[in-house]
Amino acid sequence: MIIFAIDLPSIIKSLEGRTPIHILNWAIRKYHPRIAIASSFSVEDTFVIDIATKIQPNIKVFYINTGYQFKETDIIKDVIRKKYDLNLVEYFPKLGIAEQSLKYGEKLYEKKADMCCRLRKVEPIKRALSELDAWITGLRRSQAVTRKKIDVVQLSELGNQTLVKVNPLVNLTRRQVWKYTMDNKIPYNTLYDRGYLSIGCEPCTRPVQQGEHERAGRWAGKGKIECGIHNFTKMRKTK
Ligand code: SF4
Repeated sequence: MIIFAIDLPSIIKSLEGRTPIHILNWAIRKYHPRIAIASSFSVEDTFVIDIATKIQPNIKVFYINTGYQFKETDIIKDVIRKKYDLNLVEYFPKLGIAEQSLKYGEKLYEKKADMCCRLRKVEPIKRALSELDAWITGLRRSQAVTRKKIDVVQLSELGNQTLVKVNPLVNLTRRQVWKYTMDNKIPYNTLYDRGYLSIGCEPCTRPVQQGEHERAGRWAGKGKIECGIHNFTKMRKTK
């Protein structure tokens, strides 16, 4: 598609180290309306939403509703939707939880977490991305070892489709994200006040203990730290 008209190494060079506002401005000017923010209503995602909606108020925001989210996540989703009058689109898994249990057994997340994530997160996000040329995330390099090498702009391949993935917070620390959130009075998920540093589905998320890494509460004890929505695509080598 249009994507290959871009000189990715030059774009990365020009955007690396720039502010989230600068990066989002570039992305939205270039790709709107075929660009959207992927949001789980984490503190990073609401930071991105706060800036992006100032640039383009009706920018699309999409949310993968797994059916296993915390009630606190439903609450913050509604609060942010109302505050920003969000153009929010939700994508659901093909199977409801009851149907999934009938087909694959109860509590699939306990026995086969990768499969559960594929059914409830990866397949819906593929549908969401199939309608776009570019997507925006709240990924930071310091979140996990799996994220240390992400670029500010990447290419994702989805079947025959190639998308631009924009990561405007890539260089920020957790502290910087929280400072922006507090300074700008952005509402946040109250689970953060109870020791949850990274918030996913309720059965697979626990609070983080002192000294643990910020994603240590995700799939604890399962040797898994990513759900797959950020690594199901083949990343193109850019350098
Ligand atoms: S995070 Fe857990 S409950 Fe949610 S889709 Fe993945 S395995 Fe299933």
